[in-house]
Amino acid sequence: MRERTDRKMTSGTCDSEKFLATAAPEQLSAFIKNSGESAYRAGQIYNWVSKKWITDPADMTNLPASTKEKLKENFVCGALRTEKEETCEDGSRKLLLSLPDGETVECAVLEALDGRTTFCLSTQVGCPVRCAFCASGASGFVRDLRAGEIVEEYLLCCRLVGKAPDNVVIMGVGEPLLNCENLVEALETICNPEGIGLAARRVTISTSGWTPGIRELARHGRQWNLAVSLHGGDDKTRALLIPGKYRRDIRDIIEACKLHKEATGRLLTFEYVLLAGINDSTEQATKLARIAGEANAKVNLIPYNKANGAFERPSKDIIKKFENTLKMLRIPVTVRVEKGFESSAACGQLRSSAAEKRKKE
Ligand code: SF4
Repeated sequence: MRERTDRKMTSGTCDSEKFLATAAPEQLSAFIKNSGESAYRAGQIYNWVSKKWITDPADMTNLPASTKEKLKENFVCGALRTEKEETCEDGSRKLLLSLPDGETVECAVLEALDGRTTFCLSTQVGCPVRCAFCASGASGFVRDLRAGEIVEEYLLCCRLVGKAPDNVVIMGVGEPLLNCENLVEALETICNPEGIGLAARRVTISTSGWTPGIRELARHGRQWNLAVSLHGGDDKTRALLIPGKYRRDIRDIIEACKLHKEATGRLLTFEYVLLAGINDSTEQATKLARIAGEANAKVNLIPYNKANGAFERPSKDIIKKFENTLKMLRIPVTVRVEKGFESSAACGQLRSSAAEKRKKE
């Protein structure tokens, strides 16, 4: 992950800031002791954060005013605010959240027909990868999210729906594995069985194929699932869609994915945005099947959403033909069902439109 060093300098944020959302019980105990408060207050605070999803001391009703004040002086508390919310017909919601420095990120709460709820979280403000078809990349990169901000995204979504999710996908704005350190710290907090307690197997991390990060995750060995955006059956086709700086060769991706699977035993999915005339041929499907077979991955096809920009979505017949080619070659394949808001506000568009509005004001 050395490649990220140059970008960290541009973040304009203080890495030493302590977020209440990521404070461990021992840290809270030490803080309470130093503050001269009763020891049991540490447990009360941890319970507010991890079980009631509250990080603003003002809402911690069983704490005295003095403890609330000291918490605010020593930790970043209640850092994220909802600026805008869009709800679609199936009940899924998309949120624009403001961060302590005034930047904004998006996250989403997706409701499936079977009643399962999935949170889709962002890891960066903007994205440095700049995939050709993506609104998040087009609006440029600003900074990494800190671990506490990622955890606060999760907690805010829990408060919004009044329950913990069935699944979490790290598929919002940003390339998560270019912010691996903060992502891992956030997920360790969210998946701590003594704390917030989400099972690691319910988390899927989606990457554009940043192999140094995949290897880093393999070293951690946690049972988070991995989804890799392939978008092309060969390196030449991928090069049309993912710019060179952060693009890795397919061979390198396969090797890193194998390592991850050996270390974690978890599911591997290849995500594939289908773009008319670019990557939707039978030849591409055959190449994709060969790669998925070697990496022991399933494939998730995502027909391109025209609202995102300049490309075209393949016809229904072409999508079916592509899917059938994979099936014939015995690759498990699904075609993503589009969520309602995706037709009007794709990934990154809520933030871009808010930024445009701010510019005009
Ligand atoms: S698709 Fe993902 S990795 Fe590519 S620019 Fe968009 S947010 Fe970044």
